[in-house]
Amino acid sequence: MKIKTILSLVAIIAFAIGCTTNPFTGKKTIALVPNSQILPMSYQQYDEFLSTNKVITGTVDSKRIKDIGQKISVAAERYLNANGYSGYLKDYAWDYNLVQDDAINAWCMPGGKIVFYTGILPIAKNDAGIAAIMGHEVAHALANHGQQRMSASQVQALGAVAGNVALANNAENQEMFNQYYGVGSNVLGMLPFSRSHESEADNIGLTLMAIAGYEPLAAADLWRRMKEASGGSSTSEFLSTHPSSDTRISNITAWADDARAEGRKFGVTTFKKE
Ligand SMILES: [Zn+2]
Repeated sequence: MKIKTILSLVAIIAFAIGCTTNPFTGKKTIALVPNSQILPMSYQQYDEFLSTNKVITGTVDSKRIKDIGQKISVAAERYLNANGYSGYLKDYAWDYNLVQDDAINAWCMPGGKIVFYTGILPIAKNDAGIAAIMGHEVAHALANHGQQRMSASQVQALGAVAGNVALANNAENQEMFNQYYGVGSNVLGMLPFSRSHESEADNIGLTLMAIAGYEPLAAADLWRRMKEASGGSSTSEFLSTHPSSDTRISNITAWADDARAEGRKFGVTTFKKE
């Protein structure tokens, strides 16, 4: 198919589904594939992942992931309600699980389906570090970055959904899905998030962690530890899709005051550093 045809198809699909303003960034984003199609697939993939991996329950760490996850999701909902977007997350079905796996990884699928791998805990180091990772991953989901990672031809391939054809849960679609959302287990199949998406997720993530009562500068410390870890581990999925850099760390440091100010609007008086 010619590029022109693909582009016009994309335009038609985008027009049919429409633009929405992202409540966190204020940017217009195009929902290329609607939530009504993405979320059922996301939930199915999540259940499948949990049933084929070792989910840890009833430990101090698994409880920490659930507690902090809940705080971040409450922060997201409070922020949205306060900014005139109540109901924005009505289709979300939040879930936070810790999985036994040495890989340095964590992700959030569309609809608030979160997984932390045990391998990322030493780098997270403390509750504030977990909140920083959680805030960042939830931010990717809230800003629909997964959908925006699709290329024109991939959108075209999935474009059938605009004609109300259900997104079939076949192997090919699953593979594409995992690539967009960065949740697969194959490092080679991973697509890195763009620098602008990383920056956006950092910014939104800081706001979320501050509203949840955590010190935003803890995120800068976290990314410093990530940077150190990237020296030794060449197979880290998280680091290959979320490269750490001095620019990222200095941006986070510069945004910390604003994030704290946002947290104070929601009654936070002290920000937990650990
Ligand atoms: Zn990221």
